[in-house]
Amino acid sequence: MPGLMNRWLLPMVREPEPVQQKSARQLAARERMSASTSFMAYFLQALVLYGHVAEPLLWGWLALVMASEAANCVLAMRLGRHTNDPVQRRRSVRWLVLGLFCAGSSWGLTSLMPGLHAQTQLYMFNVLFLVVVGVISVHNLCLSWPALIAFNTGLMWPLVLAGVIYPMELPVALLAAVAGELLMVKIYGRTTRYLFLQSMRAHLATETLAEQLRQKNDDLTEALSVIAEMADLDPLTHCLNRRAMMRHLQEPVRHQRFGTCFGVVLLDIDHFKQINDSLGHGVGDQVLVAVADCLRGHLRAQDCLARWGGEEFICLLADMDGNTVKAMAERLRRALANTAILPPPAELRVTASFGLALCRPGYPLDAVIDQADQAMYRAKHGGRNRVEV
Ligand code: GH3
Ligand code: MG
Ligand code: MG
Repeated sequence: MPGLMNRWLLPMVREPEPVQQKSARQLAARERMSASTSFMAYFLQALVLYGHVAEPLLWGWLALVMASEAANCVLAMRLGRHTNDPVQRRRSVRWLVLGLFCAGSSWGLTSLMPGLHAQTQLYMFNVLFLVVVGVISVHNLCLSWPALIAFNTGLMWPLVLAGVIYPMELPVALLAAVAGELLMVKIYGRTTRYLFLQSMRAHLATETLAEQLRQKNDDLTEALSVIAEMADLDPLTHCLNRRAMMRHLQEPVRHQRFGTCFGVVLLDIDHFKQINDSLGHGVGDQVLVAVADCLRGHLRAQDCLARWGGEEFICLLADMDGNTVKAMAERLRRALANTAILPPPAELRVTASFGLALCRPGYPLDAVIDQADQAMYRAKHGGRNRVEV
């Protein structure tokens, strides 16, 4: 039996916290709206009753309902401020439930106005008015079952009392009105609340999915930029790879970036195979990394370095003429030859052979690289560790 009562009276299942917060926000907003517009209804009711009940009583009643609705407005605003904190929220809802009981009661007090019960038609109109107010309250209060019940109980208890204390012609009709009203509120309230919670859950699920999608999208964008970066870089030396350098060499990018006349320097490490053979491929790799670091360290920000092949590198030297390119290549050659590639005690040193070409507007790219390549081979045949144009 208590289980049945609970199911009948308390259809509220404990909703997840986000749903409770959203419900409380909605309840606060709807109650604010209804408390601030309900004056139209009780002025209309007062207009109907005017001339049928004592005037001071009517004014007193109007003052009472206005005061209780104003208090409800304040309580709804208070709830609106406390929706996110469960403890404060529960406390605010409790106060609002009390306020709604008082508002319902002051509204329902018209049923107890002396003399009104003697005018059966008017009295029944007033009862009907209260029933309509109760049913309308379902829309605003269904989000909190206690609030809905409190308001409607407030509306109805004066009717029950009137049935007991006044000699009525239609007490059965009165009781039927009360029972019917509460039943309607129960049925409509339950359905409206169910539908509302359904849409709220769907809305929250959509929000969660949208957030997950946003997150995944961000991850994907980040992964793509990492992949794009990795696709352009040589994994060992972390300088550009040949493919990325070819992109830099395409018109019109190259002239924008490197100026109308720029130097192309190809260099090949001398006797690198011997290092691999005598010290192992691991040391060979270390040498490649150290050579790239050394070259990078001596290039300017506007220049560009890439790994062209196994132990070959290419440098683009921005805004240069024949002499400056040569001087710069010399500087690189000397720097490399004087750098201890491996830390002591190994103190390995390597040299490289450099081939230069100058790229002017309209020069075919392949021809310029070819020139640099041939110059590099001349440097090899000329004894290595030298610069050739
Ligand atoms: P030269 O002075 O004529 O250029 O002689 P070299 O020994 O440098 O030239 P060769 O072309 O005979 O040898 C290049 C070697 O570079 C062969 C290859 O195994 C090695 N090599 C290419 N890529 C890598 C790499 O990523 N790591 C290592 N450790 N060795 C590499
Ligand atoms: Mg070599
Ligand atoms: Mg080579």
